[in-house]
Amino acid sequence: TGIYQSLLRLNGDEKIPVVPELDTATYILSFLARIDRPEMKAAFIDASTDSRLSFKDFCRSVKSLAAGLYGAIGVRRGDVVFVLAPNSIMYPVICLAVLSVGAILTTANPLNTTSEIAKQVTNSGARFAISAPEELHKLVSTGILTLLTVKMKSKGLTSVEELIESHDPVDLVVERPRQSDTAAILYSSGTTGVSKGVILTHYNLISIVSLLGWSIRVSSSTNDVFLCFIPMFHIYGLAFFALGLLCSGITSVVMQRFDLQTMIDAIQTHKVNNIAAVPPVILALVKHNGETKHELMSLRRVGSGAAPLSKELSDEFRKKFPWVGIAQGYGLTESSGGATFFPTEEEAKEHPGSCGRLIPEFSAKVVHPESGLSLPPYKEGELWLKGPSIMKGYLGNEEATRATLDPDGWLKTGDLCYIDGEGYVYIVDRIKELIKHNGYQVAPAELEALLLSHPEILDSAVIPIEDKEAGQAPMAYVVKKTGSNLTEERVIGYVAKNVAPYKKVRRVEFITAIPKSAAGKILRKELISRSQQLRISK
Ligand code: AMP
Repeated sequence: TGIYQSLLRLNGDEKIPVVPELDTATYILSFLARIDRPEMKAAFIDASTDSRLSFKDFCRSVKSLAAGLYGAIGVRRGDVVFVLAPNSIMYPVICLAVLSVGAILTTANPLNTTSEIAKQVTNSGARFAISAPEELHKLVSTGILTLLTVKMKSKGLTSVEELIESHDPVDLVVERPRQSDTAAILYSSGTTGVSKGVILTHYNLISIVSLLGWSIRVSSSTNDVFLCFIPMFHIYGLAFFALGLLCSGITSVVMQRFDLQTMIDAIQTHKVNNIAAVPPVILALVKHNGETKHELMSLRRVGSGAAPLSKELSDEFRKKFPWVGIAQGYGLTESSGGATFFPTEEEAKEHPGSCGRLIPEFSAKVVHPESGLSLPPYKEGELWLKGPSIMKGYLGNEEATRATLDPDGWLKTGDLCYIDGEGYVYIVDRIKELIKHNGYQVAPAELEALLLSHPEILDSAVIPIEDKEAGQAPMAYVVKKTGSNLTEERVIGYVAKNVAPYKKVRRVEFITAIPKSAAGKILRKELISRSQQLRISK
């Protein structure tokens, strides 16, 4: 039939509950109620201050904050709440409290600029925001009604901590959301164009909690200690740390952001044995010249996702850290973060270059990009996915939704892959426009629109170039207006002034015309090979 079904199965009570009245928070809190001695075990530990939130305190904080959001702030079912903050042990509390009152979560990278944030506020329809104090200024002129801060009081605003302290942890009797209701709106550019709101329903999140929970139980033990520097504003951190690990009763040590030395210190201090990483972090570990054997002795497993991990890099990692297993996983915002994983390190070792097998309840097709035919094992084509955590669609964008989800519910990932005879998935290329810098999304269309707003630029196209450390970086082809003496430096500066640092254009080439198809589509492949030739000839 050309359809690959997951060969992994959920048993009896692991099955994803299909209950129209069930919402994510109720589902997760029911898991937490089953944890043994919840007052004794830390759910989250702050790597820098060592402050801890036990599973019991976690549940209490969620309930108190939900009561505060509802009673004192007036957040209601269906309201969109914008969360703008780096990782902290409060981040998962905030997410679950927002979901508890039936509100919709939208998150963003705190590095984003004021205008990038403003766009997301408008697009998502957010009415409330919870922000780190240092990011507050990006929200003040966005029309958001109510602002809350995390940690400290600022400009007379209420803080999340104050709300928790002043409210009892009651079970709210509010109109509960249904499984089919929207739970989160996360932003991704998908296969083409600018960033769009990915609608994830409560059913999607319940599914990913259940599937990740299962895969975590298969590959880890409840005594494991995970290190979290993957941002929780991104689906990878949100689904894995803020939802999945939590429900598995596993402790996470939380870092605000990635830093090699802080990571090494945290591993030693907390006897971390599991890390969820991205390829640039694996590279940093491979290049690190410290007493790694001594420093990283407690490590047992490193996972890599969000961007391709080359076979060479994982080989080097294994050589340097023979006591640590390394396994790649694959997923995307549009699938709530999950899709493939390796149940064991042995399997990962035996299948170099693969990102594992489909998680339970998932199916895949490998589709020839031109003919649309489903391909047999070992043939390369676009990966299409189906499963319970696949998004409902893009917010307010039917055209993009129709282009990405086919009528039978298949998600077109924009990734080129093949699947071997045993069901192992190998991602070989990205055919969508998306650029990934350190695992973060950069949408070429966004940078192209910005470049076009420059008075001396007639046309532009942005493509990925290889970046040894960050995986990829954006490069711009620019057509100048006649008479302009624009320089590469000025173009780079113009972009840098207007976007988050990870979206900066790193190289510019001036060109007389952007190559386009008869239909006016930028011929990116042509520009990519041109940039590669340029590099060789340089
Ligand atoms: P995001 O929605 O930001 O999670 O980005 C999803 C995209 O990241 C995928 O469509 C892939 O292009 C890329 N990606 C994620 N994991 C991997 C992986 N293991 N190997 C290659 N690409 C990956």
